[in-house]
Amino acid sequence: MIIDQNFKFSYSSISLYIKCQRAFYYRYIEKVEAKKGNVYQYVSSIIHFVLEDMLKRKLNNEEIGDEYNLIYEIMKSNPPGNIEYYKYDDKKVFDEIVNITKKLKSNINDISYMYNNVKDKYIESDLLLENEKYKFIAKPDYIFINDKGIYLYDFKIVSSFKSMKNYTTMVNDKSSPENIRQHDIYSYCFEKKFNKKIDNMYYLFVFKNPNLDKLFLPFKIKINEFNFSIVENLINEIKSKNNKLDFKINIGHCNNCYFNHVCNKEFS
Ligand code: SF4
Repeated sequence: MIIDQNFKFSYSSISLYIKCQRAFYYRYIEKVEAKKGNVYQYVSSIIHFVLEDMLKRKLNNEEIGDEYNLIYEIMKSNPPGNIEYYKYDDKKVFDEIVNITKKLKSNINDISYMYNNVKDKYIESDLLLENEKYKFIAKPDYIFINDKGIYLYDFKIVSSFKSMKNYTTMVNDKSSPENIRQHDIYSYCFEKKFNKKIDNMYYLFVFKNPNLDKLFLPFKIKINEFNFSIVENLINEIKSKNNKLDFKINIGHCNNCYFNHVCNKEFS
């Protein structure tokens, strides 16, 4: 069998497989180094870390502190995977992140329900499903419990209202693997691990535009009936492949693919 026995499937790996099987092969089996991302992706990744850090501090009743130090520490310790590491001394990028962070700090009361009166919290928790057939890992951004129930949040850093639409207009068709939603998978894994049901699911959109009045926008998601067998079928399919040529190409995704530098050479 080509895939490692200990391989941990995840929402990202399954989604990549659905997008392009060959890209899955390059990333997870051949472990090809991905092409560098761009500065916009880098800023989004750092803002994601900044938000997590702020939230953790609020939950622990700590001061958020000075934004320069906060970002400096985050940028030093979190060069996100596959993204070119713009050093903290790249002034323009650093200043942009500082401005967004300042605004997030001044807006943090808008999400006080996420850190006040919280009875239990799971930030970036590893939820591992393990059986004799596969291992599957989920890392939801934030789950918290208060008097009103259990809330699951996924943070999305966006540049405009338009870019929110990619997430909010997802077709609600549970029979199709293309429409597997991250929230449904996280909710399933949480329930398996803690034997508790998620009551509310949200995106927390964070706008990386410090000129807007408000940078946080929560968006409620309808809870679906979800059958994890759709994921298990995909896992079985991947595990049944034992040759590179079994992984189909998908030319529809080539332009934005992080592996086209390798793939193009092999197919041209
Ligand atoms: S270049 Fe196209 S076919 Fe090749 S891995 Fe990327 S998306 Fe798939």
